[in-house]
Amino acid sequence: MVGKALVRALENDPSYELVLRNRDELDLTNQQAVADFYAYEKPDQAIIAAARVGGIVANNTYPVEFMLDNTRIALNTIQSAYEAGVGRLLFLGSTCIYPKLAPQPIPEDSLLTSPLEITNEAYALAKITGLKLCQYYRQEYGAMYHSAMPTNLYGPGDNYHPENSHVLPGLLRRFHEAKEEGLEEVVVWGTGTPRREFLHVDDLAAALVHLLQIDGPPNWVNAGTGKDIPIGELAQLIAKVVGYEGKISFDTSRPDGTPRKLTDSSLIQSTGWQAKISLEEGLRSTYQDFLANQQSLRA
Ligand code: GDP
Repeated sequence: MVGKALVRALENDPSYELVLRNRDELDLTNQQAVADFYAYEKPDQAIIAAARVGGIVANNTYPVEFMLDNTRIALNTIQSAYEAGVGRLLFLGSTCIYPKLAPQPIPEDSLLTSPLEITNEAYALAKITGLKLCQYYRQEYGAMYHSAMPTNLYGPGDNYHPENSHVLPGLLRRFHEAKEEGLEEVVVWGTGTPRREFLHVDDLAAALVHLLQIDGPPNWVNAGTGKDIPIGELAQLIAKVVGYEGKISFDTSRPDGTPRKLTDSSLIQSTGWQAKISLEEGLRSTYQDFLANQQSLRA
């Protein structure tokens, strides 16, 4: 999802020549294959957006695979980049690297101050390893390797699975299907009061390009909108965008999860980037993309 957004952001920019590989062409968990790729292409810069990702169920059920794949991807892509002379590298993580009980909004310096959320600990540890390896290459060898930690993303190419997706794509699909089928009620999980922050993936792509262009970027920096919204309000907004006019109810037997998840994005904003796509505008274009790609949706 992020890789495709980066391609949209850069493909018409004459100052970039993109070197791309998909999953079938290059296995990033294979150290030799990654080393051969860098040695052959010799890119000037690299953005590491690839990862094994999933929701709470997948993370919790397969911690071995989440740790092995994501640690290997991080170590291989960063070490081989340095050995092939890649001058600048941007590694992507997620705000789940921060402690479970980090202050809200979550500042960068809360990293490693207390225990992680146990359900995504394996993924978070692998991402912390990548972030720290970049920091160490910069400190020990002077390489300009740094990281970005995006908040919850949405936009074209999302996962719309009815049970396993995150809330925004999950509700977009549920409200759409309710409208199509003429249902009188849509059920939203939980109480509707937890607050979440959502960043459009095209805004993130712009942030990443910006981070690769500035002098002295932070070792790691959050990328969010700085605004959060209660799930109940998100549901109303999605209903409006989709054109669903029925009732919205809440299934309080489903878990709410953490009451609030908001990143402190003041550091990246102080470097000259901020999100531009409002949630309503982003939802409208995402819904158009959903409609256009309904046949080929993942799952
Ligand atoms: P979280 O941010 O890690 O908690 O992940 P989610 O995106 O899965 O859930 C965010 C919040 O939205 C939680 O309070 C959920 O209970 C609530 N929610 C409401 N309806 C849905 C839904 O259809 N799918 C998901 N995944 N969450 C929902």
